[in-house]
Amino acid sequence: MMGKVYLVGAGPGDPELLTLKAARLLARANIVLHDSLVSREVLRSISPGAEVIDVGKRCGKKLLTQDEINALLVSYADSHEVVVRLKGGDPSIFGRAGEELDALRKANVEFEVVPGVTAALGAASAAGISLTDRRVASQVLFTTFSRGLEANAMDWGCLTPATTLVLYMPGPDYAEVSRRLTEAGLASDLPCVIVSGASGAQQEVRWSNVGALSVEEKLPAPALMIVGRVASKQIRQIDEAFWHGERNGSASRRVSVS
Ligand code: SAH
Repeated sequence: MMGKVYLVGAGPGDPELLTLKAARLLARANIVLHDSLVSREVLRSISPGAEVIDVGKRCGKKLLTQDEINALLVSYADSHEVVVRLKGGDPSIFGRAGEELDALRKANVEFEVVPGVTAALGAASAAGISLTDRRVASQVLFTTFSRGLEANAMDWGCLTPATTLVLYMPGPDYAEVSRRLTEAGLASDLPCVIVSGASGAQQEVRWSNVGALSVEEKLPAPALMIVGRVASKQIRQIDEAFWHGERNGSASRRVSVS
């Protein structure tokens, strides 16, 4: 028997935010491999008859390597009809879906990606803000810091005063985040909202700005930051000048709310 592997987005936590397709697949899965980010409430919608395997991280330590997960997906497709690879948010956003899809393609395993509500959207909803806004934000950047060897390389050339930046995996050191955002050219008075546990029972929203972030108390993981003019309860209109001329060289210009 050759089964099919579904890479399914579990959304940010609230099971009501699962797609109908995801809920239906969870109800008929033979086996589910999930990340630690997937909420307990979502895991409860898995069919009682399904085998459930946690392949995520615990206290920063991986239970399985990515290669091991890839190999498991391929081998389970041999013996199970419906294999669900369940990932927090959307599989294609910081979810290593690309590596898993490569492995499935190479092994000629049939697959399908079922999108989910990514954390950025859950967080914007939690904060009651819009990621784009025709007055102040014309583009959104889903990003994260590169750590390790490339720690200083920030590919944010497309940042403009009208960019909303969503920072996934900001880590526990907000002072470092503040410093790196400032180094990237963002003004210290640019609003920033930190959202923890978006859409879940423990959801927290903290309003801040790029400068104040350095002394902000840390929120529990998972948390992300939305940075830009929209990240405020009171949006200030972008300078007329930005829309008429002045657009070139914006990457190097400071992004400010004043
Ligand atoms: N594929 C996931 C992202 C995985 S990266 C998605 O599309 O959402 C993991 C990071 O996502 C966390 O470190 C955190 O920054 C963010 N995240 C995931 N769930 C979250 C939630 N419920 N609230 C806030 N941030 C969340």
